[in-house]
Amino acid sequence: MAPYHCFPGKDPRIVYEELLDATMIVDCHTHLGEDKDGMHQAIPELVRVMNKHKVDRAVAFPFNMPGPGRGFHKANGIIAKAYESHKDRLIPFMRLDPHSPACMKEMQERLDQGFRGIKLHPRAQSFSIDEEIAFNIYDAAQDNDIPIIIHTGLMRRMKIGDALTNIIKEFPKLKIILAHGAYVDIVRVVYSLKGAHNILFDTSVAPIYDIYELIYTVGPDRVVYGSDTPYGHMASALEAVVDIALSLHLPKEKIDMILGQNILEWVGP
Ligand SMILES: [Zn+2]
Repeated sequence: MAPYHCFPGKDPRIVYEELLDATMIVDCHTHLGEDKDGMHQAIPELVRVMNKHKVDRAVAFPFNMPGPGRGFHKANGIIAKAYESHKDRLIPFMRLDPHSPACMKEMQERLDQGFRGIKLHPRAQSFSIDEEIAFNIYDAAQDNDIPIIIHTGLMRRMKIGDALTNIIKEFPKLKIILAHGAYVDIVRVVYSLKGAHNILFDTSVAPIYDIYELIYTVGPDRVVYGSDTPYGHMASALEAVVDIALSLHLPKEKIDMILGQNILEWVGP
């Protein structure tokens, strides 16, 4: 096998291990707590899997919890508690329900506790991303300069390119992370958001050819590694991204961007 261009003369397997050791790795998409679908993950399990796969830090947010409390208060409380004991490993994001009257109060309370971003799931919380009901959240996120990670893929309206264009027009400084790399509508999203620099694409559970396309077409400065653990497997998610980056002959500093630096630039050190 020919050695990779970015580490001339080295065995690729050694390159892979050395690369992971030498890189600050941040998983931008992990869940804590429990979900209506029966999935669950507690902080010791998450930290164990992070340690095993050399992941330094993780963005963590609630599942779609059964009985999540008013405005997801109970679910966000699980993240707050985990963060309290793992400040060096977790980057806390809150989950919000735009339909809840307690939504904005919950947001402020979590911001005061040091939460660094918001997770929105249009399908689970039954709204479309360009529905006005979500605009208060976008407005406050833009004002506070915190990112929103939005689920993409299977949902009420899967074609999201046009809706995203409208949101960006209305909130030009809003930082958006498209979970799962905007799969299903990736071509339209990439085309319509070509010039938008406030969009990051998360690689979690996205098909490998979409991850390749994102890194190749949109560029390593706009792609962020994520696993969606426990739904996605942290190691294979990491391996897919690193393998694609190496096969594209990306230099180390560009790989660093995808694996951690891009997201850290948005959420702080
Ligand atoms: Zn997820």
